[in-house]
Amino acid sequence: MTDAPALPLKLFNSLTRSLEEFVPVHPGEARVYSCGPTVYNFQHIGNMRAYVFADTLGRTLTFKGYALRHIINITDVGHLTSDSDAGDDKMEKAAASQGKTAWDIAAFYTAEFKRDLSWLNVRDPVKWTVATDYVPRMIDFAKSIADRHCYELDSGLYFDVSTVADYGRLARAVTDDGEGRIEEVEGKRHAADFAIWRKTPAGETRQMEWDSPWGRGAPGWHLECSVMGEAELGMPFDIHTGGIDHREIHHPNEIAQNQAYRGCGSLDCADHSGARMWMHNNFLIDRGGKMSKSTGEFLRLQLLVDRGYHPLAYRLMCLQAHYRSELEFSWEGLGAAFTRLKRLRYAAAALECEIERGRRETVPDCPEILALRREFDEAMSNDLNTPQALTIVERTFAAKHLSKWQRADAVSDFGDVLGLKFFYDVAALPRVRPKAATITEAEIKAILTRRKEARAAKDFATSDALRDELAAGGVEVMDGDPLGWDWRLDN
Ligand code: AMP
Ligand code: ZN
Repeated sequence: MTDAPALPLKLFNSLTRSLEEFVPVHPGEARVYSCGPTVYNFQHIGNMRAYVFADTLGRTLTFKGYALRHIINITDVGHLTSDSDAGDDKMEKAAASQGKTAWDIAAFYTAEFKRDLSWLNVRDPVKWTVATDYVPRMIDFAKSIADRHCYELDSGLYFDVSTVADYGRLARAVTDDGEGRIEEVEGKRHAADFAIWRKTPAGETRQMEWDSPWGRGAPGWHLECSVMGEAELGMPFDIHTGGIDHREIHHPNEIAQNQAYRGCGSLDCADHSGARMWMHNNFLIDRGGKMSKSTGEFLRLQLLVDRGYHPLAYRLMCLQAHYRSELEFSWEGLGAAFTRLKRLRYAAAALECEIERGRRETVPDCPEILALRREFDEAMSNDLNTPQALTIVERTFAAKHLSKWQRADAVSDFGDVLGLKFFYDVAALPRVRPKAATITEAEIKAILTRRKEARAAKDFATSDALRDELAAGGVEVMDGDPLGWDWRLDN
């Protein structure tokens, strides 16, 4: 990139409800923890918005020159059917209803989740921390805070939220407000107190349970994230992310545990919460409200693909809104994002064609390209203003009077930050075959290879016959599609 003076990166910290300059705990590094999925079910596209956001944040930190250390956890135990202490363990419940082990359920939905991430061009974290791998550390953490901050009931070990300063500041809630948190557990001292260890009820056995000083049982969900964050990133680390629902219960509880663990007081000091910044993406909603799994039917990325939308159209749809705004999903909106993505791809393909015809220039970037690069940097440095950044991408494509190499280099850099791959590998990414397909992928590929040979030999009669053969199998060939899909099932 260029040698222009570095712009400070400003991010919105939910804890202070203000824009703050990113100042890393460890110079040159950015350590980020993102609350990951509870793998008892598929993730819906609302959940995926949280990871597109975290990935765009990570890419921006890389763009700003920081060595990124990003962790996403996999919650495979401990998350109850309510965010507070009511209900069953989501994993155990799913296992019972599907007649599988909780471990099988976790493995299956983890793989599905990772595939969705790859379709959305979300980069892998440096490590996937799986909650069940950290149970001994969770017990140690809980032991270290138990005496001063917890009390034991028949059902488990509970954190007393009155023992830390500023409990609930992140949520702007007052301890004991009780709202939405009716005393579900007999003996809790405050409505907001939460379990950090849940004992297996006498006479029952859980699939996932461990011995602890408080009896056999399982860790609380909030404890998991405190422990995995501390274990992999140290405390304090730089940024903790999650969806805005986590601002209300999960993250305030993590913060309380972190304060207890570190013996820290008031949250007026940025580092006392365990992370310097807490960032939250707003919801993807549909006409009925927040997209959630409890309503039964929910939208998955696979369904978007089955309907012929490239998954990166969904990523673009997310980026068209600021991450702190609600985003309403509609098929029309997705269609518009897909059209925009295709236009960007066409522009990139046209630029590639021009470049192939000429000899590469080595002159420094012209002032106009530098200005566009600067504007892009300003947009992303302003709390990840992706809607603005996208318009700068389009202006760079459109600035035809400027050097094609310089435009191509700039747009390629912008694409890396946005995770939109305008030039490379787009075809390879989502070679997606809808689940309902009757014709196998191998069969499709074999016919397509023959068709390619026929077209190369200018034997268009054979090529058309092969196209008809595919059409009869429900496969539409998409020649020249800017996203590089060779085919899709016509359903
Ligand atoms: P879960 O698997 O329920 O723990 O959720 C995974 C992530 O998705 C969390 O960061 C949630 O806050 C986030 N999330 C849940 N629902 C939505 C939604 N409708 N829109 C955006 N993010 C969401
Ligand atoms: Zn978490």
